[in-house]
Amino acid sequence: MATLFENVLAQLDKVIKVAHIDNKALAILSHPERVVEVAIPLIRDDGSLEIFRGYRVQHSSARGPYKGGLRYHSQVDLEEVKALAFLMSMKTAVIDIPLGGGKGGIMVDPKILSRGELERLTRTFTRAIADFIGPNKDIPAPDVNTTPQIMDWVADEYGKIVGHPEPAVVTGKSIEAGGSLGRDTATSRGAFVVLNTYLKKQGIPLRGLRIVIQGFGNAAEPLATMLSQESALVIALSDSRGGIANPKGLDVAKAKVDKENKGTLSESLSNQPKGTKIISNDELLITECDILIPAALENQLTKENALNVKAKYILEVANGPTTPEAEEILVKRGIPILPDILVNAGGVAVSYFEWVQNREGSHWSAYEVDRKLKELMERAAGGVFVSADKYKTDLRIAAFIIALERIAKAMALRNPDT
Ligand code: NAD
Repeated sequence: MATLFENVLAQLDKVIKVAHIDNKALAILSHPERVVEVAIPLIRDDGSLEIFRGYRVQHSSARGPYKGGLRYHSQVDLEEVKALAFLMSMKTAVIDIPLGGGKGGIMVDPKILSRGELERLTRTFTRAIADFIGPNKDIPAPDVNTTPQIMDWVADEYGKIVGHPEPAVVTGKSIEAGGSLGRDTATSRGAFVVLNTYLKKQGIPLRGLRIVIQGFGNAAEPLATMLSQESALVIALSDSRGGIANPKGLDVAKAKVDKENKGTLSESLSNQPKGTKIISNDELLITECDILIPAALENQLTKENALNVKAKYILEVANGPTTPEAEEILVKRGIPILPDILVNAGGVAVSYFEWVQNREGSHWSAYEVDRKLKELMERAAGGVFVSADKYKTDLRIAAFIIALERIAKAMALRNPDT
């Protein structure tokens, strides 16, 4: 089976069929610039020693310092991290921020660790990669299972190594430790702006559109709230334990409170409008709707369910929710996919804003962050839509073309020999 990195590189083959991208640039981008692999010894609370593997992959610095998250997960492996680093280079280029792409992580299930163990593991990992990160080199951020608290520890440990506070070495920190306002809703807000820009172009009002959302976490919940506040009908929502659906619309605010208090969405059933039913995640993905928003996990739309998807449009908030086989089916069926590398880039956009604030020693208001994010995402989305029209291609390939053209141009200008 192809690795995730090979799947990602397969996108380049599709791009060169419709647009000219410099061959040398493509060859260079098919390899990460640097791969750092470290052993992280941890003395557990019971006195035993365990060694964990940690990675930092620096894919491209053609447009600026590497930028990308740190993931703590038992299934983190090098091929996955390489793929995610490549996608970060694409994401920062699509939204045109002066950063490159990187990604990292530790192969660990953080749920097995005490808070003290998690902190020691994070600090040892930071020391192991300290030579390779820095505000002008590579700026990590949170990703799956990593939190503002973990970023605060990375910044603190790095500050001790360089001998002075250096908050700009990571983003996604706690607000009190130099984080940016608006980071918690940034991914949702960015996706909301992309969707609105797209609908405006199509002349379709958001009001009354039927929306189905898989996932109700950091990236999905604020988006569900924004959509329902703008009078779209959120007709199905789910979490890892299943979902709730009502063709006349759910009460998102009540779902949020119930999820917070009781832990699962299904516990909200009794507080939802009459006619609300429990549904499985499989049923949710094939619910008839205007917009289907996978916002939980990768590989959710597959060759098994793509023929049964009854959505008019797909908005990819999760990373990689559509398999290449499913994409082929959906494209043939004329269902446009608004791609992850554009749709969920609001998170890295506000990470960039945090880095800028730390470097200039300022604090922007939530209003200022949201305004700048809206401007940036509207511009990025508009660019992708123009590229799709120009090259007569789908939105994912259009986004890749923009990213690759920008990176190839930066490479050529900086060093014509590459
Ligand atoms: P999260 O952990 O906060 O939320 C994940 C949600 O998915 C939870 O509601 C969980 O219950 C649900 N879920 C888990 N397994 C599921 C399953 N089998 N079926 C249905 N739902 C399931 O994570 P998040 O930060 O919201 O990230 C979600 C996706 O968005 C990921 O692909 C992530 O890479 C992507 N993303 C997030 C951000 C961000 O800023 N949070 C930025 C870019 C991309």
